[in-house]
Amino acid sequence: MKTIPTLLKDHLLDLVFPRTCPICGKIVLYLSSLACPTCYHKVQFVQKPTCVQCGKAIAFERQALCFSCQKQQHYYEKGISLLIYTEMMKNSIARFKYQGKQEYARWYAEEWIKHYFHLLLQYGIQAFLPVPLHPHKYKIRGFNQSESISHELSMLSKIPTYSQFLFRKQNTTPQKNLNPSQRKENLAEAFSVAKLPSSLHTIALVDDIYTTGSTVNACSLVLKKAGIQNIYVISICIGQDY
Ligand SMILES: [Zn+2]
Ligand SMILES: [Zn+2]
Repeated sequence: MKTIPTLLKDHLLDLVFPRTCPICGKIVLYLSSLACPTCYHKVQFVQKPTCVQCGKAIAFERQALCFSCQKQQHYYEKGISLLIYTEMMKNSIARFKYQGKQEYARWYAEEWIKHYFHLLLQYGIQAFLPVPLHPHKYKIRGFNQSESISHELSMLSKIPTYSQFLFRKQNTTPQKNLNPSQRKENLAEAFSVAKLPSSLHTIALVDDIYTTGSTVNACSLVLKKAGIQNIYVISICIGQDY
């Protein structure tokens, strides 16, 4: 519960720097929510049935795996995603990443926690590891969007974010010049892991969008080689299978 001085401070800050709705981008004047209620009712939360591997919405429960997971081997245990990557969310994520709306991370994390906090406890997640950004992109963007989301998740869940263990290297051969198996190897070589605490065995990798899963898969492979036993993948948006 926020104290009255904190509420007043928040309100004054809102007047000076109006908050914008993370969904439509317009100014919001509600004290109680970060998004406009009308927008909130328009976004599509991922609903069951979902792919048992990546967490994407699938048409039929008996299908178990989405089309992509039927073809691809995964090194992580399970993916949990919040929202379907609709046009609305594409615009939201674009403003978040490219137009300096870092504050959207709070809403993404709040909703993720609201829906799935129990799973963090059930899976025994010890830490969040944000998917590292390519150093070149980091230079341009000035922040890593996955790290921003991860920090907000940490604030809300009290589970720490460890950004210091998983790295992405500068120079990688362009994926377009390679065949599928070379691509997999090339991507795995793009990540490296620093010495991990010996007590760390169950983590959640955090990313903004889950598309093909190849990036989180490559991260999972190097983390498993480094001794992590259980890896869950947390994302804010994901496509759907139908
Ligand atoms: Zn809105
Ligand atoms: Zn899947």
